[in-house]
Parts: sequence; structure tokens; C-alpha cells
Amino acid sequence: MLPSDPLIPWFDNFVGIAYRYFEIRMNVVPLFSDLKKAQNFWRETVHWWNDHSIKIRFVETGDTYWFIMGAESRQAKNNRYVFKVLPKSPHYERFKKGHEGGAYLRLGTHTKKFKKDVKDDAKCNCGHIKFDHEEGDGNDACLYEECDCRKFETFQVNLLKKKKTVTNIKFLTEAEIKDDVLAWNCFSVHKYTKRE
Ligand SMILES: [Zn+2]
Ligand SMILES: [Zn+2]
Repeated sequence: MLPSDPLIPWFDNFVGIAYRYFEIRMNVVPLFSDLKKAQNFWRETVHWWNDHSIKIRFVETGDTYWFIMGAESRQAKNNRYVFKVLPKSPHYERFKKGHEGGAYLRLGTHTKKFKKDVKDDAKCNCGHIKFDHEEGDGNDACLYEECDCRKFETFQVNLLKKKKTVTNIKFLTEAEIKDDVLAWNCFSVHKYTKRE
């Protein structure tokens, strides 16, 4: 099957992408809200991908970017392409500068943690650590005067062990996608046809 096959369904049922340094290469990590979903997606789809055929495309559109990924599969009936439109972030920019043409693809989980779940130096989504929040149950506002955080909350990312190596990574502008079958297929389905 060609990686441009228009019959392969698109998958976007995940929450975002993390970019992490881990074991030499940078890791591109689609994040799932729970471990079961991540494991299922790996077992049904990613496991069957041939590493050398995996393509990742990034297409920037203003403050957001499209993450697009596809591969040839040894089990074509379960193959899916992956896409998500995401806000640009410092992690994304760091990946863009630092990937050197290769990355590990892993899946991960993204789970919410509260004050009772973490150590004193864990960082809240407000940017301040747990120690700088009120103590005790039901009271956990941030103690920094200028901060309006009322409740300690943080996201924890866990990476699954299994990985694939990706060496076909491209950053494209929207004007360039017509020369790229995978990116063109994605924009055709999710942007251009929907506009009509
Ligand atoms: Zn704060
Ligand atoms: Zn806070």
C-alpha cells in the first residue's frame, strides 16, 4: 500500500504531542489520556509500521501547526494515518531546531496530577512549585501574590518503552504541500474539502 492511499482512515483521537530528549535522539510522543488507549493504538497500528517508511510532516499555519504522520503497514487493514492541529510551543520549536533528521517515535500518556500525588518540587501549571501553594486538603491556592492560581494541578507525561525510528521528517509550508503526497492528502481531507 502506498502511504498516500486515500482509503486509509485518519486518526486524531489523542491529546497532543510531547517532544523529549531521551536516549540520544529526540522523541516525538503522541500523548493519550490513558494507558490502555496508547497501548491499543500501538498494538493495532504502530507496531505494524515499517520503520523506514514512517513519515512525519509538520506544516505551520500561523500560530498553529499540523502534525501529520503515516507509514506503510504489514497489516494494511489496521493502518491509520495520524494528524492533529496543535498550538506552536517552545518544545516544538526546540524539536524543529534540534532533531537532526531523525527521531524516536514513542507513545505516551498525559495525566492530570493534584497536590497529593506529587513531590514538593513538582511544578504546577501556574509555573510555581507545590511548596509555594497552601497546605492542607481543599486549600491549595498559589502563595505568589501576582498569581491567580487557586488549585495545584499539573500534567505528568509518561513515555511507553516501545519505539520506532523515524528518519523521514519534513517541515513544510502550506504552499509546499502539493509536492508531498501525505501532507496533501491530509489537507485535502481536513481543510480543503471541508471548506466547500
Ligand atoms: Zn502560581
Ligand atoms: Zn498553581
